[in-house]
Amino acid sequence: MARMNVHIRFLGGAGTVTGSKYLVEHDGQSLLVDCGLFQGYKQLRLRNRNPLPVMPNHIGAVILTHAHLDHSGYLPLLAKEGFRGKAWTTPATRDLVQILLPDSGHIQEEDANFANRKGFSKHAPALPLYTESDALDCLKLIRTVPTHQVFQPLHGWKASFTSAGHILGAASLLLEVGGRRILFSGDLGRPDDSLMNPPDRPPAADVVVIESTYGDREHPEEDVLAELGPALARVAARGGTAVVPVFAVGRAQEILHAIVLLKANGVLPHSLPVYLDSPMAIHTTDLYERHIGEHRLSAAQCRDMEHVAKMTRSADESKAIAQQHGPKIVLAAAGMATGGRVLHHLVQYLGHHRNMVVLTGYQAPGTRGASLSDGATKLRIHGQDVPVRAEVVQMQSASAHADASQLMDWLRALPTAPRRVFVTHGDMGASDALRHRIETELRWQALVPEHESTWSA
Ligand SMILES: [Zn+2]
Repeated sequence: MARMNVHIRFLGGAGTVTGSKYLVEHDGQSLLVDCGLFQGYKQLRLRNRNPLPVMPNHIGAVILTHAHLDHSGYLPLLAKEGFRGKAWTTPATRDLVQILLPDSGHIQEEDANFANRKGFSKHAPALPLYTESDALDCLKLIRTVPTHQVFQPLHGWKASFTSAGHILGAASLLLEVGGRRILFSGDLGRPDDSLMNPPDRPPAADVVVIESTYGDREHPEEDVLAELGPALARVAARGGTAVVPVFAVGRAQEILHAIVLLKANGVLPHSLPVYLDSPMAIHTTDLYERHIGEHRLSAAQCRDMEHVAKMTRSADESKAIAQQHGPKIVLAAAGMATGGRVLHHLVQYLGHHRNMVVLTGYQAPGTRGASLSDGATKLRIHGQDVPVRAEVVQMQSASAHADASQLMDWLRALPTAPRRVFVTHGDMGASDALRHRIETELRWQALVPEHESTWSA
């Protein structure tokens, strides 16, 4: 096949960690690698409302590297606006997007309703980006393929997934088109993750597109057990409640598994009640047993994780947690306390010194989680100021991303030097720091593409 005319257009995830969308074009056909929502600052979120520079019905196929919304959450809108191709995922990613995308649509509808009620929308009425029903519609486009199996997303194009170790189902993608081998890292997990298997060795490629979320940072030596154990033991000993805001996918299960081990090691009493108060996290926890082999847990360990906590599905069960006196641990979404059931628990428990809030990961600026992490003395929840007297613990060790040295190790494992590396999915500082390390330590050509720029592969 002629070596010509393969282009990559960076329609998201360039100079920022969200909105991942890489359009690969060759010989009149095109395919979108990841279809993510922009999240975070309003300036970024507004990009979700801009039309793509390509007509959705001209895109032949979509391939999702994993289920996180910054990689999958734009698919309902793409389908609503005319995309009719197939959307390829691993089986576990399909199971997760079936949970995440309808929920995302539901939240979009609620936000629009809220804006309309409060009358603060500039566009009257505020419209959701897409609805729950749009999200359910787009699920029909999904086709699954296991890792290491070659598939044909478009005529004459070959593709295959390798495991990326980031969350359940997460993959790197090798695309072969026009005589070029283009490798997309997707989000890479850490080789020492407590739940996920290490990422696979990358296959040889001419061009590599690598994420750089932690491109300028290294993880601390301390592990999740060493951070979590003493904190939870302390709050249990003083009879308090630990409220743990968690991300439903990945982090909730990592914390549950840690609690299983802490109880088995005698760091925490066996009798200490634990609640998982998030229907989405409960569904996700069930998926670990269905996808044995994608992670480090045996079937028995998956069941331990399910049994260590009381799963509270209904709103009534959630409210009943407050009736349980004495020490306990309550895991609830959202992970940065931006919404969800965790807010009710914060209102209930923040006001007393006996209690504790455990922040399990990065807290984006502007979120309630960030305020707590920064030592706020009161928190605005449901229109009231809640005093913060509980102890606040910010964990440093939990992360689903490879750090800078682990990203470099993944690149070093490539069988041959690529002609070029594109550094994406990072804040400018992180992406540029990784670019610099690639150029100086590996002597490979690396660059940080700008938003909406086009490069030949
Ligand atoms: Zn991710």
